[in-house]
Amino acid sequence: MSDQYKYQLDESKLPKAWYNINADMPIPPEPVLNPQTLEPITPDFLSVLFPMSLIMQEMSTERYIEIPEPVREIYKLWRPTPMYRAHRLEKALDTPAHIYYKYEGVSPVGSHKPNTAVPQAFYNKEAGTKALTTETGAGQWGSALAMACNFFGIDLEVYMVKVSYNHKPYRRVVIENYGAQVFASPTNRTNYGRSVLAADPNSPGSLGIAISEAVEVAATSGGSKKYSLGSVLNHVLMHQTVIGLEALEQMEMAGEYPDIIIGCAGGGSNFAGFAYPFLHQNFTNGMKTRVIAAEPASCPTLTRGSYTFDYGDTAQMAPVVKMHTLGHDFIPPSIHAGGLRYHGMAPSISALVNHGDIEARAVQQLATFEAAVQFARSEGIVPAPESAHAIRVAVDEALACKASGEKKVIAFNLSGHGHFDMMAYQAYHRGELEDYEYPADAIAEAMKHLPQVG
Ligand SMILES: *Cc1c(COP(=O)(O)O)cnc(C)c1O
Repeated sequence: MSDQYKYQLDESKLPKAWYNINADMPIPPEPVLNPQTLEPITPDFLSVLFPMSLIMQEMSTERYIEIPEPVREIYKLWRPTPMYRAHRLEKALDTPAHIYYKYEGVSPVGSHKPNTAVPQAFYNKEAGTKALTTETGAGQWGSALAMACNFFGIDLEVYMVKVSYNHKPYRRVVIENYGAQVFASPTNRTNYGRSVLAADPNSPGSLGIAISEAVEVAATSGGSKKYSLGSVLNHVLMHQTVIGLEALEQMEMAGEYPDIIIGCAGGGSNFAGFAYPFLHQNFTNGMKTRVIAAEPASCPTLTRGSYTFDYGDTAQMAPVVKMHTLGHDFIPPSIHAGGLRYHGMAPSISALVNHGDIEARAVQQLATFEAAVQFARSEGIVPAPESAHAIRVAVDEALACKASGEKKVIAFNLSGHGHFDMMAYQAYHRGELEDYEYPADAIAEAMKHLPQVG
């Protein structure tokens, strides 16, 4: 049993329903506010951007929501994904801990993101949507949604953060292979983009700006285009729970149960997707698993942001939610983990961190790449720099076990592979990467621009 490396589920074990943590939240939800009035939003406001089926999921408190059969059929192209026991990493660390990782890099675009892109495209198709708009940072979300829209015959416009558009040309081509259009944001196509360019023609863009552009295009399309978001929202996190639901079964195959669960958190979707089914066991089954969200010290949303109401985007067009935030006008330093650069965090994760159900830990860039390379040299997989934040925390926990002699079971989510991140690895090998702590005065300044919620 324990000499097994991979725990693989049969396709018949692909989950039939997603897990919705709103059924089990230990604290009541905070209202979602209209960015203009700061009053609770109505489904009408959201229906400009999303089909009603996704709005219903966003607000649902049903514990399980059935996965439509056409979505399961597409999931089967790469799901269930494998769970590995990291025997070789354990040996390299000389730790008594058992380390497991769930690998989402086997999806066609190399990350967990199609787990929500596919159902979002499906529900939009069902509602008659002809075209979607979205933003993308490093390009993982844009490529996932492009693949999904292509499967369902929906047009797609992707607003890609300009600095990534220039630094990651190959991810852009992946998006174009699936038939979507890609624009470097800020663009001249939107009022907001034009205003940003007027103030700074060399603006490198940011996720917040790109979201504003994609939202503006959908909101002013007269209903012909809808908008799709790849993280943060409840329904997105819920779609990702296929990861953790499979992992629960795979841990059972391995005959172990995790003492510690770890995921990296940008907007929070892969972390929640992996961790929430285990939190369900904590809440309802007396399990006591520690759950840790890993984030970069350069974008320390959970560890140093405020837990307060803030806008979801820079232009203040997206709803206002209570979350950990570094301020909606946050322009992040250019660390090499583009997927972890959002100013906010999913509201449910923020609430659970605030309530003490989830721990948060920030890790530095150099230590993260060191763990990434150690992982590649022992397990063979070159991880996405985002995922490497989770590896760093898993390695630190395994080393703590070595020091204490404890034989804990550690499981982390390997959210994607790093095959499009060679510029970052090259910079690391050349000694060009630096640690960076986001400055406290920048956080304090951004907190002055929060919406004044009564
Ligand atoms: C997008 C991305 C992330 C960060 O997004 P979350 O919503 O926090 O999961 C992490 N890892 C990979 C590989 C990604 O593509």
